[in-house]
Amino acid sequence: MKQKREWILLIIALIPILIAGCKNRTSEDRCDYDGFHVQPLYAVYFSLQDGSEKKYCSLVCASMSFSALKKQIREVRVVDEPSGNKINALGAFFVESEVVTVPHVKNRIHVFAKKEDALKHIQTFKGNWVENPFR
Ligand SMILES: [Zn+2]
Repeated sequence: MKQKREWILLIIALIPILIAGCKNRTSEDRCDYDGFHVQPLYAVYFSLQDGSEKKYCSLVCASMSFSALKKQIREVRVVDEPSGNKINALGAFFVESEVVTVPHVKNRIHVFAKKEDALKHIQTFKGNWVENPFR
């Protein structure tokens, strides 16, 4: 009996989280390449010359769009994985490892603002340095 009650309490606790999750899925959070939900931690932002902004769910989608938009792009911003801060891609460190961040595109490239964080990831997850995909 006790177990059953715990399950019910757990389900009740989860309801507000599910509702909040659905509300957040507005078109604002969609990837400009494939329309998938953008998780802020793995997002990539392009600032264009005309002042508009493009956002992508992953480095994979952003790199797919990069060559077509290259001439219009003023700045590329990526997100530092440990802190969640947006940083300029030119100053970021990129590491490829076994860890997948965005499953539907199988993204394995990770972004770091600090070299020591990137090195830690390389050592822990058998990663390799990769070039900035946005140059
Ligand atoms: Zn995408």
